[in-house]
Amino acid sequence: MANFETVEVNTDLLIVGGGFTACGAATEAAYWAKKNGLKVTLVDKAALDRSGAVAMGLSAINQYVGVRDGDNTVEDYVRYVRQDLMGISREDLVYNIARHVDSTVHLFEKWGLKIWTDEDGKYVHEGRWQLMINGESYKIIIAEAAKNAIADAGGEIYERIFITEPLMDGNRCVGAVGFSTREEKFYVFKAKATIAAAGGAVHVFRPRSVGEGFGRSWYPPFNTGSSAYFTMKAGAEMTCQEVRFIPVRFKDAYGPVGAWFLLFKSRAISAEGGEYMAVRKDELQNWAPYGLAKPIPANLRNYLGMLDMDEGLGPLYMETDEAINKIADAFKEDPKAFKKKMKELESEAWEDFLDMTISQAHLWAAQNVKPEEKHSEIAACEPYFIGSHSGASGAWVSGPEDLDTPYKWGYANMCTVDGLFAAGDASGASSHKFSSGSHAEGRIAGKAAIKYVVEKGADPNVDMAKVEGLKKKILSPLDLWQAHCNETTDPEINANYILPRQFMFRLQKLMDEYAGGVTSAFKTSKSLLDRAMELFVFLKEDSEKLGARDLYELERCWENIHRMWQGEAHVRTMLFREETRWPGYYFRSDTPKMDEDNWHCFANCRWDPASGEWEMMKRDVVPLPGV
Ligand SMILES: Cc1cc2nc3c(=O)[nH]c(=O)nc-3n(C[C@H](O)[C@H](O)[C@H](O)COP(=O)(O)OP(=O)(O)OC[C@H]3O[C@@H](n4cnc5c(N)ncnc54)[C@H](O)[C@@H]3O)c2cc1C
Repeated sequence: MANFETVEVNTDLLIVGGGFTACGAATEAAYWAKKNGLKVTLVDKAALDRSGAVAMGLSAINQYVGVRDGDNTVEDYVRYVRQDLMGISREDLVYNIARHVDSTVHLFEKWGLKIWTDEDGKYVHEGRWQLMINGESYKIIIAEAAKNAIADAGGEIYERIFITEPLMDGNRCVGAVGFSTREEKFYVFKAKATIAAAGGAVHVFRPRSVGEGFGRSWYPPFNTGSSAYFTMKAGAEMTCQEVRFIPVRFKDAYGPVGAWFLLFKSRAISAEGGEYMAVRKDELQNWAPYGLAKPIPANLRNYLGMLDMDEGLGPLYMETDEAINKIADAFKEDPKAFKKKMKELESEAWEDFLDMTISQAHLWAAQNVKPEEKHSEIAACEPYFIGSHSGASGAWVSGPEDLDTPYKWGYANMCTVDGLFAAGDASGASSHKFSSGSHAEGRIAGKAAIKYVVEKGADPNVDMAKVEGLKKKILSPLDLWQAHCNETTDPEINANYILPRQFMFRLQKLMDEYAGGVTSAFKTSKSLLDRAMELFVFLKEDSEKLGARDLYELERCWENIHRMWQGEAHVRTMLFREETRWPGYYFRSDTPKMDEDNWHCFANCRWDPASGEWEMMKRDVVPLPGV
């Protein structure tokens, strides 16, 4: 076996991940841990300052309710999420996040984040719920607060450790194991409680950007389904595994469109000039009541554009020039003021990309795009798993203790596994938390997990023989490579192992062609999904034969195994839900209509660690009383 040193770390609370959720969890948990003499340990596969989806920065905070100013109520936010998710959301979780999110945003400001304000000192809104920020250093600011809180409470942060598996003691999670991505070290984290906060997943589906563009995607390439894998392997019940997110973005560099739609009030049109949201309005009747209420759900907006593409009316365009000129028109009488306004709008357009998707600015520059002169192409991206944004996949977690709902079996945000908590992208059915809501949910989970440790946290009982078995399995790709790499002239081609890149291509091809990816125009059916399940059998067999040349490839191997589990849960749940509820995210051609009578429910699943079998189940959607 590869000769890795084993490092043991003992802690009270383990936080897996270092993104917005983990930073929220760390900040809050450290406060309560210090009061109770407990230790908090955070472990991230990357470096906290720039890890996760906010690594590059953001130009807007997408969840701010504005209760202080009387702008909205928490109930308004619950109604908004219910509408956008076509009726399927855990309203107790959404409510809990919404009632805490404003205070999180005020903390961000206190920590140094520049939130735009107007002449009256009020926050500048991009849309109803979104605040404009100078967000290039957003992640650094939030990470700094988490680091300070952990240091102040005597906790520890481990960076560049890839968490591979949960450590289990029956139905109780007692920590995690993983390996350093820089040194030959295998880590065993023993914990009384664990929070899964390792983000969502990308590259489960074949991306549009292949070949020279490979690696470019809307969702950052470093989140690879670890939250889903970790919670599933622990035996946790999962929810909304069928709900993927497909954003429509500027084509090929995936630049954000929010500022264009919300701030600049731009229109999106087909190549023939028709505005699909207007031309195809009647289609929305088929998706009542959600299609007829405002705002129109993101998937339905996608769907109308996709119908244009299906009819050969592409490319689709964002009317940037029209929008900019319309705003500047108000200054037409004064040429100097007009010129100044045009300059200001032009620079806002570029800054929007430079804040969070620099490559889109590169692409515009490379293609001589002047947004004030000519429209720019947009397209639906490939599917992603991101429970904190407009997707919803994640673990099924216990609701807040003070609300009267049937969704309570433990501490807030605890999974159906004892001692295991999930938040942000890792918890399901509570979409639209975004950066601020994920941080708020992390805080909720952090506080609840410390409460669990104080009240119930027995010392972790870890079977070291099992850990040794895990170590052997986790490092086996290195051994397999070593044993067989000299048997062929080209070490990339070998009958005894498969390298992670080729393995990933197989997974992506399977998902793309059978599970409703880009090349199948986001359509699938029972027959296609059944075939996908047949192919998964072979893929899973071959995952035992992954080979790795070095530490980097070892990480790639495990990233792909995590992706594979996310993919399988997705296919199984799309098969289970016999209707089409989110056209624009996926369309089941054999059950093309929404079926409120039979499928206004959560589709949940669970992998049983004892038997290795999957169980699928329906769970009721219970609206929050009075909302
Ligand atoms: C392209 C894009 C644009 C967005 N735009 C906005 C916006 O404008 N405004 C807004 O408010 N929100 C926006 N969001 C949403 C926001 O980024 C997410 O809601 C938020 O980052 C979710 O937090 P998280 O901690 O769950 O995941 P992340 O912040 O992504 O963090 C995941 C963490 O897990 C770590 N990790 C992953 N795997 C492992 C492993 N195996 N072991 C250890 N660590 C691991 C990662 O390194 C990272 O630290 C956007 C998201 C995306 C993808």
